[in-house]
Amino acid sequence: MRKKIVAGNWKMNKTLDEAVALVSEVVNMISDEVTGDVDVVLCPPSIYLTTLKPYLEGQTRVALGAQNCHEKASGAYTGEVSAPMLKSIGVPYVILGHSERRQYFGETNAQLAEKVTSALANGLTPIFCCGESLEQRQTEVHLDFVRTQLTESLFHLSPEQFANIVIAYEPIWAIGTGLTATSEQAQEMHHILRQHLASHYGQEVADNTSILYGGSANEKNAAEIFARPDVDGGLIGGASLKSREFTNVVKARQ
Ligand code: PGA
Repeated sequence: MRKKIVAGNWKMNKTLDEAVALVSEVVNMISDEVTGDVDVVLCPPSIYLTTLKPYLEGQTRVALGAQNCHEKASGAYTGEVSAPMLKSIGVPYVILGHSERRQYFGETNAQLAEKVTSALANGLTPIFCCGESLEQRQTEVHLDFVRTQLTESLFHLSPEQFANIVIAYEPIWAIGTGLTATSEQAQEMHHILRQHLASHYGQEVADNTSILYGGSANEKNAAEIFARPDVDGGLIGGASLKSREFTNVVKARQ
């Protein structure tokens, strides 16, 4: 069956000292307090990944992830980081297609398909983000929009490759706004995405794919959202920047 996963997306936050402190605290709290079966992924800015890795030594439950990678393996792409580079420093996860990347850096579904391919070719597990805008929800095109995001960026993969895909549904109107999707809204979309996977890959692949919810999830609302049958965990932004709160979110998922 599919994994329960709680990932923290730190975005462009924390200095080096703050990053080390946060990872140390989270690792200690998780090993002291979390006994259940949940995988935790911490996604700091990529500049800190190598430094933070030793703090996770011996941890079976906590792993590192990057927040993005380039679709090409190497070359003249100033400022970018590639999947082979992440592989070379031993990072197992990478967030791809976050709405902020789509919005501010113009990432398209087609480009994300290439990023996903590159990540998988280098043994990374993509946490593939999808989600609609408020306007799309209000005009009721949100279900088709999100299904298309999956179709265009993921459906070139084989069923075997899909075993290494994690999906994060993040309605844009809920990200960093304090406005969380209701657990009904999250469940509805997660269920529809799972059906969409089933229609292309069959029920087994659909049932084995973890679908995380993201968008103003926090220690107060996580338990209710995670209780829904198609919500397998969370991609946590703001609430992942505080060790106590993030650990409480993890505990709500175990
Ligand atoms: P948020 O961000 O929890 O701060 O809303 C979630 C995300 O963007 O991944």
